[in-house]
Amino acid sequence: MLSRRPQATIDLAALKHNYQRVKQLAPHSKVLAVLKANAYGHGMLSVAQALTQADALGVARLDEALALRAGGIARPIVLLEGFFHADELAQIVASNLQLIIHHREQAEALMAARLDAPVRVWLKLDTGMHRLGIYPHEFRGLYQRLSQSRNVQGALRLMSHFASSDELDKPATVNQLALFKHITQGFAGEHSLANSAAVLNWPQSHGDWVRPGLMLYGVSPMADTVGTEHELKPVMTLSSSVIAVREVNAGDAVGYGGSWIAAHSTRLAVVAMGYGDGYPRGAGNNADVLINGKRLPIVGRVSMDMITVDIGNEAVAVGDKVVLWGRDLPVEQLARCVDTIPYELLCNITSRVQFSYINSSG
Ligand SMILES: *Cc1c(COP(=O)(O)O)cnc(C)c1O
Repeated sequence: MLSRRPQATIDLAALKHNYQRVKQLAPHSKVLAVLKANAYGHGMLSVAQALTQADALGVARLDEALALRAGGIARPIVLLEGFFHADELAQIVASNLQLIIHHREQAEALMAARLDAPVRVWLKLDTGMHRLGIYPHEFRGLYQRLSQSRNVQGALRLMSHFASSDELDKPATVNQLALFKHITQGFAGEHSLANSAAVLNWPQSHGDWVRPGLMLYGVSPMADTVGTEHELKPVMTLSSSVIAVREVNAGDAVGYGGSWIAAHSTRLAVVAMGYGDGYPRGAGNNADVLINGKRLPIVGRVSMDMITVDIGNEAVAVGDKVVLWGRDLPVEQLARCVDTIPYELLCNITSRVQFSYINSSG
């Protein structure tokens, strides 16, 4: 019998399709597939195992990289924020991880360390994001010193990160690209700038390495589109089951705070999914689910373990499957309804949700 627990079904064929879509859009670039935050909630190790063609994998933190190594992933892994403390360098060398170096102190600590072997370094320039990155006026000096450091393996790679590549009408991306070209002019080394939105929107930024995250999971990084409009296939389906069907009369208030009052008599499905599973509380009175393929509205507040759905006269029974997001109910739309981004919804799925991996991709 199908478990009535919330389920996340991960379609690895869709993941591979999206990877091919990246290659189609950026045919001359290598791919650093971004797997941080448990592969955007999809399960980091399974995603890494499926993306056999990715040239490198990117994670934010050392423990994520070590989990991939412990899981038998031997491919290049890049720490997107580098190291946080020089103590970590021995393990980084032992595990053969690559580093992004993004500020002066980090570069100094790397050059001063005594390492058993040199490390591959990507030097990150701040071109306008103003979060991480070497200041333009420090770039030349650090590039030259790092290039000569015994702790740096091979040629430096040069990278930067876009702040607004999802917004086509802003000049920010063109300006960042121009500054990157200007500052790195004459320096050897492969270039990497493009996140998903830049893979989709800014081919002039693709360079030697693209760094897609969200689009690999079949989701659009732009506020006004969904993945399928970019020939992507959503990888995750979040689903659960109806655990009760009940009748309410006109005037009955439903759920905590009685925030929804039935205007006429109707039927409700109670579904095993709540904010304790990572489903957003803001969806109360504000979003739809799919039951037996039909879009039906959530009424009342989202509780920790349950939501209530107005099913009217639809033929819905206990045990029926409910889709919270997936191919026919884009997570991008839910994100808009609850005033967030799909990145956050995907990352918020909790360990209560049962994961299964399939290869279907219809
Ligand atoms: C997270 C991240 C990416 C991927 O961004 P998406 O918008 O998910 O494609 C690329 N580069 C860096 C440095 C990142 O931190």
